Amino acid sequence: LPLTADGETPVRVLTIAGTDSGGGAGIQADSRTMAMCGVHACVAVAAVTVQNSVGVSAFHEVPPEIVAGQVRSVVGDIGIGAAKTGMLASTAIIEAVTEVCGEMGIGKAGIGKARPIPLLVDPVCASMHGDPLLHASALDALRTSLIPIATIVTPNLDEVRLITGIDVVDDPSARKAAEALHALGAQWSLVKGGHLRTSAESRDLLFDGDKFLEFTSPRIDTGNDHGGGDTLGAAIVCALANGYSVPAAVEFGKGWVTRCLQAAYDLGAGHGPVSPLW
Ligand code: PLP
Repeated sequence: LPLTADGETPVRVLTIAGTDSGGGAGIQADSRTMAMCGVHACVAVAAVTVQNSVGVSAFHEVPPEIVAGQVRSVVGDIGIGAAKTGMLASTAIIEAVTEVCGEMGIGKAGIGKARPIPLLVDPVCASMHGDPLLHASALDALRTSLIPIATIVTPNLDEVRLITGIDVVDDPSARKAAEALHALGAQWSLVKGGHLRTSAESRDLLFDGDKFLEFTSPRIDTGNDHGGGDTLGAAIVCALANGYSVPAAVEFGKGWVTRCLQAAYDLGAGHGPVSPLW
């Protein structure tokens, strides 16, 4: 992405998400990706996870008014070109985030303004090890509160199943899932097929209520795949903040995460982080 000239304030983005003490996923992956994309990362911490390369053993939820307060504080002073949500843990936090996004013109609330603030909603439900990152009771708030204001929603296949009840096994079921997500109110839905191991390629399907667009990349064979969804979402948000269209931003994000997977390093006894250092 274009870096601004020396001394100029760079483009700013905001991530509203959970921390990863192992530095692999969540806010750490987001802010590292954003820095590497030449964008200044503002962070609103929604939850603190006790986590390493092997898994998540506990998490602590930040009070909803403090989560919303971080968003209000940053948008009012620093200003952002796009925002992203990740792990939000609870119904109360999801509702507080939806409300403050409405107040600050983020997501669908920004439509009609001179410069609407795009909102990427990554509906994080669990870690790759199956450790829960969202209370099961909060799924409904995702469906009825946050996803309806999203510019783009980016679930993986497990999240698609939890949110829509659709088991994605092939192209027709991926299309059905993309339609169901769009029907919840998101402007664009991206069904991430990276975890569908039946294909030699990683295929993502993007839908805007009218046309389907497919994005493919080679499947990179690595065990260092922790935080891949966060890294993809963060790169997409950086592109959106730089004025890319949603399809162009997804294309940029997909290329970014593929290069990251190729450069991902070993860490601890488990899975190393997708977002590398270079
Ligand atoms: N921890 C946090 C805070 C996250 O936001 C996420 C994913 O979004 C994860 C862990 C899980 O990452 P992974 O599915 O790669 O284990």
